[in-house]
Amino acid sequence: METVLRLHEIVPLTFANGPGARACIWVQGCSLACPGCFNPQTHDFSAGDVRRVDWLVDQVLALKGIEGVTISGGEPFQQPEAILLLLKLLRSRSELSTIIFSGFDKSELERMACFEEVKVNVDAIIAGRYREEQRLASGLLGSANQEILLCSDRYCLDDFIAVPPAEVIIGADGSITISGVDPLRL
Ligand code: SF4
Repeated sequence: METVLRLHEIVPLTFANGPGARACIWVQGCSLACPGCFNPQTHDFSAGDVRRVDWLVDQVLALKGIEGVTISGGEPFQQPEAILLLLKLLRSRSELSTIIFSGFDKSELERMACFEEVKVNVDAIIAGRYREEQRLASGLLGSANQEILLCSDRYCLDDFIAVPPAEVIIGADGSITISGVDPLRL
């Protein structure tokens, strides 16, 4: 059977989800329920669209002018089989960098069966729950408890500090996508 991922949205071009020009894949589904989460519309595991992982990779590889892909959500590690395959295919079929946001902290991730394989197929992981009382909203960190785990030598921590904290993307169809670790409240 084909491996599938429950998808919230693909953002084809963003500058606020990691270094440089990137695509962003927002997965659908998260049960971690951080108070103050900015993406509650990504929590429902029955919403979104179910897509084959190889279809997702084809969509991303068709995009021009990006240096990498960020996977966020939703909670990517609650779809571990799909995320691992997605990372492996991106690495084997492209030179794109990859970054994952996760609400799980480092110790939780290290207990997951997929983690060792994820680490060798990703460039960085931003790990930890969003905690309102420790709000930071800078350098790709939503709150001060979160940490950036560098998994390759592709990026250094300064690359993340330079990422803009907020972004408003207006689509050709007039749609508005709000993104970043300090998103505007329209
Ligand atoms: S892990 Fe992320 S998506 Fe899930 S509730 Fe926390 S901030 Fe929201």
